[in-house]
Amino acid sequence: MSDCIFCKIATHELNAQIVYEDDEFLAFRDIKPVAPVHVLLIPKTHLDSLLDAGAQQAGLVARLLLTATKVARQLGVAEEGFRTVINTRDNGGQTVHHLHLHLMGGRFMTWPPG
Ligand code: 5GP
Ligand code: ZN
Repeated sequence: MSDCIFCKIATHELNAQIVYEDDEFLAFRDIKPVAPVHVLLIPKTHLDSLLDAGAQQAGLVARLLLTATKVARQLGVAEEGFRTVINTRDNGGQTVHHLHLHLMGGRFMTWPPG
């Protein structure tokens, strides 16, 4: 979408600290990190939220999770563990309406989240 900041990051129109990129996904550092490692993993194609992924996106959703583990290994947080979060719509705390997965690590994560 033309006014979507994550679409613009995906096309390199907007700058971000990119840590991983392939044909389908991009991972970049969150501008307001809440953990020593906090990256956002996005599909390059625009989906407003997880709710917009249907059966046709089953492969994409699976690869999103597999890519998250790949990036976690690459960033050195796999062994100690990490958290993955997908916020959806208002009650989920979603503020950017382009599907993204938060990958956070480098410290102990408490539960439940706020
Ligand atoms: P949400 O609250 O939608 O799950 O997460 C959106 C995340 O995107 C937030 O953690 C926020 O800090 C991050 N964010 C918002 N705008 C930008 C930006 O322009 N660049 C980067 N790198 N992160 C952003
Ligand atoms: Zn977008």
